[in-house]
Amino acid sequence: MKILVISDIHANLEALEACLAAAPAYDRVFNLGDVVGYGASPNEVVNKSRELGGLLVRGNHDKACSGITNAEDFNHIAMVASFWTKETLTPENLKWVKELPKGPIKPEGVENVQCVHGSPLDEDEYIIIVRDAYEPILESREALTFFGHTHIQGGFSAEDDEWATLRPIYETDNESENFVYQMSRTAKYLINPGSVGQPRDGDWRAAFCVFDSDLWNITYYRVPYNVEQAQRRIYEANLPDRLATRLQEGR
Ligand code: ZN
Repeated sequence: MKILVISDIHANLEALEACLAAAPAYDRVFNLGDVVGYGASPNEVVNKSRELGGLLVRGNHDKACSGITNAEDFNHIAMVASFWTKETLTPENLKWVKELPKGPIKPEGVENVQCVHGSPLDEDEYIIIVRDAYEPILESREALTFFGHTHIQGGFSAEDDEWATLRPIYETDNESENFVYQMSRTAKYLINPGSVGQPRDGDWRAAFCVFDSDLWNITYYRVPYNVEQAQRRIYEANLPDRLATRLQEGR
C-alpha cells in the first residue's frame, strides 16, 4: 500500500495543490495536523483536506484556531493568525477543525505504524534533535511513527544502540525532486514528511513523503509552488508580513 503523508499545511493552498499534483498514485492519506494557522486559505485547505480524508491528527494550531486552547499563549504573530483563522473559517469548517482527533492514532490495516503531530508521548512536544527522539522511540511499541510539528523534513532511526538523524539529500534548490530512503525491518523510526505550507528547514519548497508499506520505504519529496500567490493572499488578508516573507526563505 502507498500512503501519502502530509503535515503542517498551515492554510497554504498553493503549496498543497503543488504537492498533490507532484504525488504519485496513492491508496490513502495520513494528515498529521496543523491544517490551518499562519496561511491565508483556511477554508480552501480544510475543504481539500476533508475531500482527501484518510487518517487525521490534530495539531497545536488546529486547537488554538478552533478555541480548544488559548491562542494568547502563542507568540504574537501566531496569535494574530489564530484569531484571524477562527473568524475566517465557516462554522462547518471550524467545527471540523475542532473535532480533529488527538494523536497518537494507529491506522487500520497497516501494521507497526502510528501517527502523531508532535510526539507519541505529548502531542505538543517538538522532536528536533536526536536526543529528543530517545524517549519517544524507546517508549513506543510501534516500529514506525509519523510526526510533524517541527517543519523539518527527515526523521530519526534507532537500531540496537545506533541512533541516527535522517535528512534527505537533494541536488537543486528550486526543482521538483525526490529522495528514496529504504528502512530496515529491524529498526525503529520517527519519520517527518516536512511541512507542506511553511517549511523551516532552509528549503522553501513544499514538503511531503510517500510511505510504501510493502517495500517498507519512504520517498521524500520537495516541490516548487507559487509562493508569490500564497504571499499575496497573506498581504491581502492583512496577516503579519513575516508570515509571507518567511515562505520564500523556508525558515
Ligand atoms: Zn505546524
